[in-house]
Amino acid sequence: MLLGDDNGEMDDDVVESSIPLLPLRDIVVFPHMVVPLFVGREMSITALEKAMSEGNDIMLVTQKDAKVNEPLREDLYDIGTIATIMQLLRLPDGTVKVLVEGKHRANIVDFIVDDCFLATFSILGEEGDEESLDDTGALIRSVTSVFGAYIKLNKKIPPEMLVSVSSIEDPSRLADTIVSHLNLRIEEKQEILEIIAPLDRLERVYAYMQGEIEVLQVEKKIKGRVKNQMEKTQKEYYLNEQMKAIQKELGEKDEFKGEIKELEEKAKKKEMSKEAAEKVDKEIKKLKMMSPMSAEAAVVRNYIDWILALPWNETTEDNVELEEAEAILEEDHYALDKVKERVVEYLAVRKLADKMKSPILCLSGPPGVGKTSLAKSVARATGRKFVKQSLGGVRDEAEIRGHRRTYIGALPGKIIQSLKKAGSNNPVFLLDEIDKMSTDFRGDPASALLEVLDPEQNHIFNDHFLDMDYDLSNVMFLATANNHFKIPGPLRDRLEIIHLSGYTEIEKLQIAVNYLVPKQIGQHGLKEDHVTFSEGALTKIIRNYTKEAGVRSLEREIASVCRKIAKDVVKKGDSFKIKVTAGGIPGFLGVEKFRYGKKAEMDSVGLTNGLAWTETGGEMLVTEVTVVPGKGTLLITGKLGDVMKESAQAAMSYVRSRADELGLEKDFYQKLDLHIHVPEGAIPKDGPSAGITMAISVISALTGRPVRGDLAMTGEITLRGRVLPIGGLKEKLLAAHRNGIKKVLIPLENRKDLKEVPEKILRTVNVVTVNHMDEVVGEALLEKVEISKDEEREESFDSENRDAVITH
Ligand code: ADP
Repeated sequence: MLLGDDNGEMDDDVVESSIPLLPLRDIVVFPHMVVPLFVGREMSITALEKAMSEGNDIMLVTQKDAKVNEPLREDLYDIGTIATIMQLLRLPDGTVKVLVEGKHRANIVDFIVDDCFLATFSILGEEGDEESLDDTGALIRSVTSVFGAYIKLNKKIPPEMLVSVSSIEDPSRLADTIVSHLNLRIEEKQEILEIIAPLDRLERVYAYMQGEIEVLQVEKKIKGRVKNQMEKTQKEYYLNEQMKAIQKELGEKDEFKGEIKELEEKAKKKEMSKEAAEKVDKEIKKLKMMSPMSAEAAVVRNYIDWILALPWNETTEDNVELEEAEAILEEDHYALDKVKERVVEYLAVRKLADKMKSPILCLSGPPGVGKTSLAKSVARATGRKFVKQSLGGVRDEAEIRGHRRTYIGALPGKIIQSLKKAGSNNPVFLLDEIDKMSTDFRGDPASALLEVLDPEQNHIFNDHFLDMDYDLSNVMFLATANNHFKIPGPLRDRLEIIHLSGYTEIEKLQIAVNYLVPKQIGQHGLKEDHVTFSEGALTKIIRNYTKEAGVRSLEREIASVCRKIAKDVVKKGDSFKIKVTAGGIPGFLGVEKFRYGKKAEMDSVGLTNGLAWTETGGEMLVTEVTVVPGKGTLLITGKLGDVMKESAQAAMSYVRSRADELGLEKDFYQKLDLHIHVPEGAIPKDGPSAGITMAISVISALTGRPVRGDLAMTGEITLRGRVLPIGGLKEKLLAAHRNGIKKVLIPLENRKDLKEVPEKILRTVNVVTVNHMDEVVGEALLEKVEISKDEEREESFDSENRDAVITH
């Protein structure tokens, strides 16, 4: 080995023997630097091979011009680096990859051209600047810190480099290590290589680094500026495009302009609340700035249309003549005197106290009793417009109050929608089926309705869609319900319930003769002399083709007859005349649908006629009881509600407590199973008023005493046998009458309610009041027909016999 150790304790002595020289094209290798080199030139490969065989040392000298392929001495710098070959790898394409580590600066002394370049050289030693050691320390520190800043800006250098650079204390080595990371030209690097004095070199590196940092900073700034510029240009481009689109629309869509003008004119003419006018103004302004085809414009336009279409100040003149109103109600409806009277009172109060704070009228009763048509009459009588809004199935608060405009396809609530339909701000507004509203997670429509009906609040009713107040205080609200118990409590408090319980057969006949028949004849385009209905025919329809409290089916059946006659008139000419009689009805309406007087006509054991109140009027229900040997089980069937089941148990307890008096064995129930059933098992039934009916059926079944078949009863029972009052007496008596019952037992306390029952009913049905089960037993049970015990049991099991009784 020719060279001394790494400590640099070499002088500038020329090394006599030559070593191979490798010209480098575009790199300057510094001492301490480890780099891979790719070598392709023939001579260079030979130089490497020679070096490998002679001790791994090689001199690396950079070419002045990288493009020169076959360099001569003058193409090479004078100073290069002596390096050691650490690794050599022949690549398949004939080139060589070699890893070298720089050792010392060296000066070419002799340049020999053989089959490769060879050179003798002199090592350029580090001249120590020992005399200025303090300066060295300071310089090293500043170089290291500036290198730190440089690394931050230059992302290509791995941050760990700073750590290894910080540990270098030798200025010469520090300069050489840093310079290899600087982004310098070859000439600049060569220049640094040629500076022999370490501190001078370090200073130069420092200066270059500063320059580099400035360049990087400027670069960064420029990059940022370019980015900003780009964004700005993009934004401008986008806005310009939009403006172009707007202008295009403005130019092309004169129609839109016309439309806006129309809206403006409409808004000017329309009388509105101040708030509404301001809102319309604002929205029109907004609309002008929008593209006519945009979804948003459609929403705004729709909103403006709604406001302009609403009756803000459009009011109809009220008819103030009470007599006239009374006459109209009378003209439209038969009977219903109490109801009509109440309506007239209501109108009178409204006339005196304009904005009345009294309750809202709610007409409650079965279908077809004239609730809707009464409300229409009220509108006619007062000269107001009429709107009806059905609330059946409404379960979302938004259906009353509307959806906020942010929802696509949002609409105002049912109240505002109906007012638009009415076209005046003071119509008669019928809230139909108010008991059919329900509540769920979407909010409580009843509470929204409460606000609508509250005179204290409804002058500032706020619909979510309109998003402004609308005055509802001029509206005359009426409501209808089938079952007022189902109206939500707070709402019921606002309402004054008027009951319409249904019509007797005679009333139905009168309604048919005086109202329904003329109405249907007119509606079917017939004339009075084309057709006449005999009373018998109408009675037959009432009895055998309908089974209802109201007259809706009756009207439908009459319509059906009229339809058939209309066909005949068209076919046979205008001179066609017909008198519809009872006998002819099946020809029009087919076979009878109901059998009139469906009662348990036969007196039988364990079978009792009960009377029930339902939403569709009164109803007769038969209670059956059978007794079979068993262990004292009480079986209750027929889709009965909890209250009814409890009544059955109460009835049973009463019977057990009176076992002695009824002539039953003390422990009779331990040997028997009792089955209570209320037929038409698919229809849910509930209520306490079947108590005495069930008790009588049980007693009858246990004692074998038959129950009177032409008798019906209703009443709640206590454990001690007291009979408690019930509701819906009128409907129940109507039902008993419809079913041909002769005698009805009712609780004593219900006697006061008989005032409301039509005279005609009381004349045909014998109503007996009872206060205790003993009286019921006395009235309802017949003496036991003497048959042997076995036969008696058989009779109660005799299904044929039972069926005959039920369907009779
Ligand atoms: P509801 O609203 O109670 O279900 P409607 O008001 O629709 O019943 O009445 C059904 C039909 O019966 C209507 O054509 C109505 O005119 C008629 N009607 C009901 N009651 C009477 C009555 N008392 N007088 C005359 N027509 C009546």
